[in-house]
Amino acid sequence: MGKPTGFLEFTREMPSKRPAKERVNDYNEFVERLEDNKLNQQAARCMNCGIPFCHSGCPLGNVIPEFNDAVYQKNWAEAYEILSSTNNFPEFTGRICPAPCESACVLGINQPPVAIEEIEKHIIEIAFDKGLVKPRAPKVRSGKKVAVIGSGPAGLAAAAQLNAAGHQVTVYERDDAPGGLLRYGIPDFKLEKWVVERRIKLMMEEGVEFRLNANVGVNISINDILREYQAIILAGGSTIPRDLPVTGRSLKGVHFAMDFLKQQNKRVSNAEIAAEEILAGAKNVIVIGGGDTGSDCVGTSNRQGAVSVTQFELMPKPPAGRTDFMPWPTYPMILKTTTSHEEGCERHWAIATKAFVGDADGNLKALRVVDLEWAVAEDGRPARFVEREGSERDMPCELALLAMGFVHPQHEGLLNQLGVELDDRGNVKATEKNYQTNIAKIFTAGDMRRGQSLVVWAISEGRECARRVDEFLVGASLLESKDRSL
Ligand code: FAD
Repeated sequence: MGKPTGFLEFTREMPSKRPAKERVNDYNEFVERLEDNKLNQQAARCMNCGIPFCHSGCPLGNVIPEFNDAVYQKNWAEAYEILSSTNNFPEFTGRICPAPCESACVLGINQPPVAIEEIEKHIIEIAFDKGLVKPRAPKVRSGKKVAVIGSGPAGLAAAAQLNAAGHQVTVYERDDAPGGLLRYGIPDFKLEKWVVERRIKLMMEEGVEFRLNANVGVNISINDILREYQAIILAGGSTIPRDLPVTGRSLKGVHFAMDFLKQQNKRVSNAEIAAEEILAGAKNVIVIGGGDTGSDCVGTSNRQGAVSVTQFELMPKPPAGRTDFMPWPTYPMILKTTTSHEEGCERHWAIATKAFVGDADGNLKALRVVDLEWAVAEDGRPARFVEREGSERDMPCELALLAMGFVHPQHEGLLNQLGVELDDRGNVKATEKNYQTNIAKIFTAGDMRRGQSLVVWAISEGRECARRVDEFLVGASLLESKDRSL
């Protein structure tokens, strides 16, 4: 442990952000980096607990006190080795993870927790700056071939691990660029795309092959894949958005959030936008859905020059001090105000959209909304809602963005053709222990198995799934698992 009294001497300090008024003029990341000596103090706050709950708070099982100690000692090479032994992509989680590890930090009981996410980002960026991150191609190849379908964080993590184990891995991606939601979903102001490209380049240098515009089940035959590969991982994400099939849904100006966000990612990287453009400029925008996707729509609409940005959440606002009120959008157990909200947004809670109202030309003009009242159960949690009498009204709106979550992966095409078994929610069925589907040699990981989740969970699933695939291919695996008993 670096400094036993560190947590008594130093308070939590976070890097500064560019002011909201300034940063809405571009799509660049806006969180600055802490100076090295300040980061060293932040790492010194770690108490090196006897039972480090942060290990289990992190879905990857990151060994946090150990890398905190290395940062305190300014031993960047060791910090990088420790961090990268459990996390293939700290540059992603260090930027966009909601940091469940910090919620698990024991110091957080009576002080602000250790700034673990910031330390993680710093370690990997310094490692890149110092040339410590080098391609590590396996010395021996196993002669086995694995296809990974989907290049999101789950597919990438599985590919990186299986490649390290010596298998020849090919990643199939239907989009024109790899990265899944990291590339076409999460806005550049949260994660600039050079960060994703830098990692993909490294993986290619290590021997992973990427096939783009390769939609398996559409322009790539699944039978060819089944013939060519000894194992297949389905990592296609959870892509079917929840709809709001009320009157006026087909009006011009009502769109799924992902169609809007993906176009903006493409615009920033000068990629071709094939569909009709969805733009928020000079419009009253209402985002329906209070989670991360909704928040990203808020930030993007402000950057596009919306006249007003309003966000709806069906659930009631949690009372102050109640951390167990609902799992989302307050996860991880705080009432979440994102950086996008800081940039300008009116938030409405306990509100429902009854209809989309249009003009004679079929353009959206307003949302017919109603306030909800929650009948509260005995334990204080919301139980059911009723419309508040007399609260129905029209709110001006020319662009409505539906950000109400994702129901399951796409079944048409790949999954139906394979005849893969689905669970009750429509996700691909496989246990968290073996990641194997009902079909021999086909595995699954990430949102496609777990349902809509987080980047850190996708990486964790990709890694654990890779270990099972490695065992399936060669009988035993030396790949790391978060299950320390393996
Ligand atoms: P995905 O990232 O969805 O990748 C799946 C890939 O598979 C896609 O590229 C898709 O094109 C490809 N694919 C699908 N079918 C086929 C096929 N048949 N052939 C070839 N390719 C195929 N999480 C966080 O932790 N922090 C955040 O800030 C955050 N923000 C988010 C913002 C938005 C707008 C959204 C939608 C999600 C956000 N998430 C966030 C959640 C996170 O992005 C996902 O949980 C994570 O990306 C899931 O990873 P995955 O690899 O399982 O799937």
